[in-house]
Amino acid sequence: MSNVLELQGVSSFYGPIQALRDVSLDVREGEIVTLIGANGAGKSTLMMTIFGQPKAKTGRVLYCGDDITALPAFKIARRGIAQSPEGRRIFPRMSVEENLLMGAQVINYEDYDTNLKKMFALFPRLEERFAQRAGTLSGGEQQMLAIARALMSKPKLLLLDEPSLGLAPLVIKQIFGAIRDLNRETGLTVLLVEQNANQALRLAHRAYVLVNGQITLRGTGAELLAKPEIRAAYLEGGH
Ligand code: ATP
Repeated sequence: MSNVLELQGVSSFYGPIQALRDVSLDVREGEIVTLIGANGAGKSTLMMTIFGQPKAKTGRVLYCGDDITALPAFKIARRGIAQSPEGRRIFPRMSVEENLLMGAQVINYEDYDTNLKKMFALFPRLEERFAQRAGTLSGGEQQMLAIARALMSKPKLLLLDEPSLGLAPLVIKQIFGAIRDLNRETGLTVLLVEQNANQALRLAHRAYVLVNGQITLRGTGAELLAKPEIRAAYLEGGH
């Protein structure tokens, strides 16, 4: 399996504050890889560094073998990476339909209708709420919209930042189920950042643990789920 994404010795800073320390990881074609870690570990920074905001100060970000470290964000998006950022940043005053249109804009509208049908099949709730203002959707529906909007550009790699944040267990199950189906049916490659380690490790083929900006453990989802130190830190009494 070839690497869709590879980080090689990446360090990122916010001014003097170092948020990522020599991070190396890879995501292979067709995989769901999860990055778990506590609050402030640097998970969101890693996602944003892939899009060059902040830019990696040392190391390289490779996408399908090409060095994208210095590319502007819009060029990275055009190459086929889409992200659903933390906090479901949808456009609240726009309708569901308009939000989905914004997602499709990254490429072109050629396949708009076909893609829309796929999104409705994945999240039927979005079809029911098509004309509704996005800001009035429930938290779970907003998360579905944020993911669907990212998918409208037909990405090869989807970056998901904490899709479970603030959602009820049943809704989390639905959303993680949709990600699993997408991956199985279309081969979509996914990098999933999560504090909800239990669910994320069950979903993912492989996982990395980030502590204070550094990768401290890696393995299959099942391997990490079985590790006592993971159970103690992130599962039992944790998240
Ligand atoms: P959370 O789950 O709480 O979102 P995280 O693992 O995503 O946490 P990051 O948001 O990547 O963590 O933050 C990593 C570190 O970088 C933290 O110490 C944070 O305070 C710092 N940081 C994040 N964004 C900025 C910023 N814009 N300016 C300065 N420091 C920042």
